[in-house]
Amino acid sequence: MASTAWLSKRLDDGRILCEACNQRCRLHEGEYGICGVRKVENGELELLVYGMAAAVNVDPVEKKPMFHFQPGTKSFSFGTVGCNFSCKFCQNFDISQYPKEHGHRIFGRDLPPKQIVELAREYECASVAYTYNEPVVFFEYTFDTARLAHEAGLKNIYVTSGYETHKAIDTLAPYLDGMNIDIKGFTDSFYKEICGARLKPVLDTIKYAHKKGIWIETTTLLIPGHNDSDEEIRNIAKFQADLDPAMPWHLSAFYPMYKMTDVSPTPASTLKRAYEIGKEEGLKYVYVGNIDDREHESTYCPGCEKVVIERRGAIGQYVTNHLKEGGLCPHCGYRLEGVWE
Ligand code: SF4
Repeated sequence: MASTAWLSKRLDDGRILCEACNQRCRLHEGEYGICGVRKVENGELELLVYGMAAAVNVDPVEKKPMFHFQPGTKSFSFGTVGCNFSCKFCQNFDISQYPKEHGHRIFGRDLPPKQIVELAREYECASVAYTYNEPVVFFEYTFDTARLAHEAGLKNIYVTSGYETHKAIDTLAPYLDGMNIDIKGFTDSFYKEICGARLKPVLDTIKYAHKKGIWIETTTLLIPGHNDSDEEIRNIAKFQADLDPAMPWHLSAFYPMYKMTDVSPTPASTLKRAYEIGKEEGLKYVYVGNIDDREHESTYCPGCEKVVIERRGAIGQYVTNHLKEGGLCPHCGYRLEGVWE
């Protein structure tokens, strides 16, 4: 089901500029954007995957990962095919890269916004998550869904690589409650060579969305030999601590995947080293992921250092939340930062 990709504008030379992401594709009639799901047809930019979900699940919100966002609740999660990045380590390459690798073909089941919200309520979810592939490439589908979700009392979460334009964030912000944004590395060469993107726009998105008051958590997948030096890890931690030391940072274990099957999995020791660096740089909340490590995936109160949310499981999905209403520590009364209700 195609629909007009209205986050776009016509340029003086007749091309259409897509204003959804910072790839800023300028397209002639018949051309596709880098994501493979936005195309100029009959003089309009079309979103080819509107209402077509390629992956749908009811997930623990911890899987997004979001640890300071309605802990222990379920999030109705969906995505389409297509992506504006081309990460060689993509865990969902079968949907994200599908149009690019299959002659612009797309697939998905018919799932309009209204039905997503109905299903989310039926499955007793507290939120809708736009995830699995990059949500900004199906922006208009997310926008319509997010608006209906808010009307139904559900929150909205973007799980994203952070390439949204300011215009995309401004437009969606009234309905967007949380974002998990990847910081995939901290060098432009990593972004260019491994992901087909640039570093600076991602850092800019994190700052901009944070300034808008959207709750943000970040994720770094640590890939041995590519982005796991002490210096690079420390630079990410410094950037984040400088912006907001209360912004949670998820350190995720890499497993060989897609075009990076020749790289070993991340050792647990690397995750722990990165965890310590994050703490040394002043981050209040650092977590490891893709590994069952109760000690490093639980939340400790910054006021008294006692455990306030216990988590177990590879994605921290088994949750015992000791926080009182409003995120208050039951031991010392410190108010932990997050979206708790
Ligand atoms: S969303 Fe797609 S078409 Fe639009 S700028 Fe990004 S890659 Fe290009």
